[in-house]
Amino acid sequence: MKANLDVLPLNNWVETNGKPLIIAGPCSAESEEQVLETARGIAQNGYAHVLRAGVWKPRTRPGSFEGKGEEALPWLQKAKAETGLKTAVEVATPQHVELALKYGVDILWIGARTTVNPFNVQDLADSLKGVDVPVLIKNPVNPDLALWVGAFERIAGAGINKMGAIHRGFSNAQETKYRNSPMWQLAVEFKTLFPQIPMIGDPSHMAGKRAYLAELTQRAMDLNYDGLIIESHRNPDEAWSDASQQLTPDALGEMLKNIEVRKATYGTDFQNQLDNLRGRLDNLDRELLEVLASRMSVVEQLGEYKRDNNVAVLQLDRWKQVHNSRADWAKSLNLYPEVVEELFKLIHMESIRKQTEVMNQQNA
Ligand code: PEP
Ligand code: MN
Repeated sequence: MKANLDVLPLNNWVETNGKPLIIAGPCSAESEEQVLETARGIAQNGYAHVLRAGVWKPRTRPGSFEGKGEEALPWLQKAKAETGLKTAVEVATPQHVELALKYGVDILWIGARTTVNPFNVQDLADSLKGVDVPVLIKNPVNPDLALWVGAFERIAGAGINKMGAIHRGFSNAQETKYRNSPMWQLAVEFKTLFPQIPMIGDPSHMAGKRAYLAELTQRAMDLNYDGLIIESHRNPDEAWSDASQQLTPDALGEMLKNIEVRKATYGTDFQNQLDNLRGRLDNLDRELLEVLASRMSVVEQLGEYKRDNNVAVLQLDRWKQVHNSRADWAKSLNLYPEVVEELFKLIHMESIRKQTEVMNQQNA
């Protein structure tokens, strides 16, 4: 899925002095006072570079607060003039783009519910032709990497070269701990395909609850993300949208103070030790595969034996016993039983496939 996207490094459009880019602010702009007070608090603790505030809110059901619209844009201008923070809003239509630019918004972002729709993204791209403004693109609500990449291709096609990805997680079919499942692997895949595109974590929309913000923020830093976008409100419990996931500016400052930012570069001693440990992992992985290959050869013999005696491939009692004993062994080895169970499901599936192949050899 390699696409050649021309993207300028982050420090071409916002100076963070090597620190992670921090975008913070309320889910929604509600009133001039609320925007200004929140912005002051955020600016005071000194972590943030950009003030976010939703002005047009995509709501799942009609009747919820849908944003103040154009009326709110001068509040952001005031907040910027007073605090020096740059400003960012979500845009979902060409009219939003036009208004945001008219009021001097510094950074635009495309929301998760817009990224899913190529028609919408193309309309936005058309409205951005000839404009020089940074655009951040949230992952689509569903875990579809190509859809996310496609949005970048469309926006890049309009000549935008200041772009960033926002990883906000993916909606869940079932009830889970987080409001949106992070599925970190997908964002890591994105980073691998497009190392030039800054990756910004959105722990707020992953978490859905304040209590989970710190662990998700730390995780994003552990994966060397380039920045964070976090919702902060002067009075979170009274927020008109996303009340349970927002933090006061003070609590935000406190949380960020306790986050470990991992270094991206390191000295030779560290590199040597890293190479040494990675070398050991390479050897162990090789051994793992050799053991797996031996296992498969026993599986093959077992398949032949079952075939010659006309016994079915799958014997449920035996599988139950394998399933339970491996989970017990995992526990005694301090391995996470759920992970080991998943692993053995895969191994068992492959064994069944192999034995079925052996069975059919006779029939062929
Ligand atoms: C938001 O940032 O407030 C928002 C609506 O997020 P998302 O597009 O990730 O749902
Ligand atoms: Mn929100």
